[in-house]
Amino acid sequence: MINADKEKIFSTLQETFGFSTFRENQLEIIQAILQKNDAFAVMPTGGGKSLCYQLPALLLDGTCIVISPLISLMKDQVDNAQALGIRAAFINSSQTPEQQAGILTAFDENALDLLYLAPERLSLNHFSRKLQQGKIAFVAIDEAHCISEWGHDFRPDYLELAQLHTLLPDVAITAFTATATEQVATDIVSRLHLYNPFTVRASFNRPNLSYRVALRNNTSRQILQEINTHTNQSGIVYRLSRKDVEKTTAMLVNNGISSLPYHAGLDSIQRAENQEAFNRDEVQVIVATVAFGMGIDKSNVRFVIHADLPKNIEGYYQETGRAGRDGEPASCLLLYNRGDMMRLGHFLDQLPDTTEREIGWQKLKQMADYAELPVCRRKQLLSYFDEQLPGENCGGCDICLQGVEELEATTQAQMIMSAIHRTGQRFGAGHIIDIVLGAKTQRLLRFGHDKLPTHGVGKGHKKIFWRRLVDAMLHKGLLTTDGGKFPVLHLTPDGEDVLFGRQTFTLQMVKELAADTSSKDTPIHLHNDLFELLREQRRTLAKQQNIPPYVIFSDKSLHEMCRLLPTTPETLLAVNGVGKAKLESYGNDFIKIITAWLNDNPDVERPEPGTALPSSRTTEKMLSETVCNSGALAEKGFSLEQIASQRKLKPSTVATHLVEWIDAGKPLDIGKVIHPEKYELIKEQFAIHSNGFLKPVVEALDGQVSYDEAKIVRAVIQSCS
Ligand code: ADP
Ligand code: ZN
Repeated sequence: MINADKEKIFSTLQETFGFSTFRENQLEIIQAILQKNDAFAVMPTGGGKSLCYQLPALLLDGTCIVISPLISLMKDQVDNAQALGIRAAFINSSQTPEQQAGILTAFDENALDLLYLAPERLSLNHFSRKLQQGKIAFVAIDEAHCISEWGHDFRPDYLELAQLHTLLPDVAITAFTATATEQVATDIVSRLHLYNPFTVRASFNRPNLSYRVALRNNTSRQILQEINTHTNQSGIVYRLSRKDVEKTTAMLVNNGISSLPYHAGLDSIQRAENQEAFNRDEVQVIVATVAFGMGIDKSNVRFVIHADLPKNIEGYYQETGRAGRDGEPASCLLLYNRGDMMRLGHFLDQLPDTTEREIGWQKLKQMADYAELPVCRRKQLLSYFDEQLPGENCGGCDICLQGVEELEATTQAQMIMSAIHRTGQRFGAGHIIDIVLGAKTQRLLRFGHDKLPTHGVGKGHKKIFWRRLVDAMLHKGLLTTDGGKFPVLHLTPDGEDVLFGRQTFTLQMVKELAADTSSKDTPIHLHNDLFELLREQRRTLAKQQNIPPYVIFSDKSLHEMCRLLPTTPETLLAVNGVGKAKLESYGNDFIKIITAWLNDNPDVERPEPGTALPSSRTTEKMLSETVCNSGALAEKGFSLEQIASQRKLKPSTVATHLVEWIDAGKPLDIGKVIHPEKYELIKEQFAIHSNGFLKPVVEALDGQVSYDEAKIVRAVIQSCS
């Protein structure tokens, strides 16, 4: 490639897209396209596929035809491109014939860089003739795996694309997908008749995603805890059943967290509305079954929680992959209960086809291994895609961050097995653990199991320890279950070896983490209050223009504004994701906010131009600056309203700060923050409604107290208990 071309590529990257470097493989693909080669790229979600065809579309004469499977997504894609100053349009069945004709005229006049189409359009004869007559730079096929019956999203309409090379003989065809298997990849290339394509297969590692697994023992509390470490940040909670989606949504709403459900039982209009509200940051959380998937282009999803075990690693990778597309840190938490495997396995057992059943079980076991083995989670995910993680410690999963401890647990294993043996191998894990713990449940008393010598021998450990131990024993083959919905535990010959002292048993466990450091990956940026102001501005502009907020600026761009504090167009241009078009459309609005904020905060140190930015990882602290600012005022005895008005923040934001402050064990004068009488009233109601939900408490007090006040009091009560 001649240098002049390279220079042009880089200046376009900077001026139009506002980025200074390419992500892995982008440059190579762009160069291949500029040389009119066919190309095929497998890149993970968030890998930056769109830039690979958008950038050459700007440099080549003629229009780039983009084939995209979802009509619902086209508008967002076009909005996104237009916000960058790219001449983009789509044609689909949602438009009137006049609108379609207008766009075709623009295409005829060579006035479009990108034209998005659904594949079925190619089967219309008059339309393909039109395409043949126009000037086409190249064709880019998005979600190319939809052409393969082996893929998970096969779409018969995509088969139309097989004729592209015949239809447009001199035009290069490029195909993009995030689907990883070799089989699908080969199938795509052959079905599209790609000619000697330039091929890349990017690493599937997503370094900005962190992975954790926690034993599920209280679904609601664990989901809430995780969401509370992501104040005001978007996230997805995946649940297996529609019923659980509804239940979890209601639970979150009851706790004052804005959330909406998404599952196949809702009608399509409702689904589209809920997805749109999430996309536009109008609700914080979407609770969904796996039906929620393709078509989520939202770049600022900061956390994904799986409250049930996914069916296989591929699905888990795809679903977690929806987090952190903007490259900023995001966290993926799996709440694991071994019982899920039995539940899912039960469905698999109903499959009539033996091979399907076996493959299903094999994949399910791999998924359970992911959760149970003390092996780096990232390593396990990547090895599923035949990729090796360089190095031993990924630095971004619970195993690597917390470490694994080995515990000589022969005696404890014997306790469990003795309880199983003495109760005739007729009970499940819950009951056996109850015996060892010395519980006095009705069921236990009814069977007289409180009289067993093993009753209460394991009081020295918590329930969660015993759960882990039983899981590990199952995994190691010391125990087995007989399947079914309520699986009964049995001893195996290997188990008997340990029971009778012929073998020892060592338990490997992820080391415990102090409760308040569970989410290290949350991007805690400098000047949270400024970030909130910028976000608000972004939301307002997005609403006015009827586009999703992240189309205006990504979270990453806003974070950088908070660090760089640019107050001139030149310095704003240095922010990642700010190019010429965005500077022109939005620059002033954001500069104004930053300038005003700096006036209010004269002591803030501004970075020297050109100094390296601290990454969000290195600026992490236990409590963000803004939380400390609110906390310090509360400590001094200001009320909630006073803090809010002084800091020009919403009371709800301050309330979240104070909850974090209290949770961290910091002092504050609660009698000043909330009027003592009110405090007592709320406290009383929490005693009555002991499940800790906010809604019943607020409603019982009939307009006298707000959710914010209730939230703070709850934090104080919990901190005392
Ligand atoms: P994909 O389609 O592969 O899932 P996208 O094309 O949606 O990914 O890109 C994901 C995000 O990464 C977008 O927010 C995009 O602006 C950003 N991005 C793409 N290329 C770069 C780059 N070279 N530098 C920084 N950010 C980038
Ligand atoms: Zn790891």
